[in-house]
Amino acid sequence: MVELLWHSLAAGINTPYRGVTMENPFDSDAIEPQSRWLLQPDVEPHQETVHFVRSLGGSGEITVKELTLLAYYLNENREARHSWPGELLFQSLAGMFDHRTPSKADRDGFNQDLEEIERECSRVAVVIADEGPEIALDSLRVEELPLPVLDKTIEIFSDDVGHSYNVNLHRQSCSCPGWSASRSKYNAGDLRRCCTHMIEAYLQVIQAGELPDCSPVFHALMEDRVRRGRSLDPKFTWRLVKIKLRPHLVIHASRGWSYVYAPGGNSTFSRYAFEVDERRWAFGHVPGSGKAIESYLDDARKKGPA
Ligand SMILES: [Zn+2]
Repeated sequence: MVELLWHSLAAGINTPYRGVTMENPFDSDAIEPQSRWLLQPDVEPHQETVHFVRSLGGSGEITVKELTLLAYYLNENREARHSWPGELLFQSLAGMFDHRTPSKADRDGFNQDLEEIERECSRVAVVIADEGPEIALDSLRVEELPLPVLDKTIEIFSDDVGHSYNVNLHRQSCSCPGWSASRSKYNAGDLRRCCTHMIEAYLQVIQAGELPDCSPVFHALMEDRVRRGRSLDPKFTWRLVKIKLRPHLVIHASRGWSYVYAPGGNSTFSRYAFEVDERRWAFGHVPGSGKAIESYLDDARKKGPA
């Protein structure tokens, strides 16, 4: 008798909403849909594609030129477009380039995809920490990287508008409207005076041997920016940081991603990105002097904008 009573009580407790149609709480929108970029446990990222993707983007956007570079790369590389993440990227790009130039919304969506790919790569990356000896902050030499001066004016054709602009490399000015609006306010020599046209003009004179004393990191910067159709973003602080006499170009803002062009072998430079709040290097890819650069970026953030 006692046992029977207990059973009926328990049944009552277990069904408090008797008569009410219960909704499954797990059907709600609160559950994040699984990312289409999620890397399955038995799948390895295609390293060459990851290397290619790592060289693109920055400042929270991707340029049409970068999308075109990636489309050509995938078009010419069968293995890349049949593996992760090339397969999905190829599908997106094919839809985007269908009879038109990708819009700003297309590019923003694609940039978000690249951010998800970056997170996935970082999640599975085997990060090789910078085990070099501790480098004291006061042993780093921080300098400006001034724009070289050359008594020359060059016409640079712009595909966007279908005509040319005049770049004066002595005054470091350009006749494009963007230059007058947002770059003319910086002092002569300041990298932030560089619009896309000025970058092309600098690369032309460097390649023609007209700036023999130009520093290799400036050459690498101009080459990389022309390749990707990018200017030098005015919201960043651009500094040459010499670590054990080796020049690193460090590009930082007060928040978000910072970038560094670090020297590799054969006088080449590679671009790396570090997130100060999350304390991580993009794609798990750490430059040789990673710890020293992190210390510099922490210190720069404490001091505030230059
Ligand atoms: Zn310009």
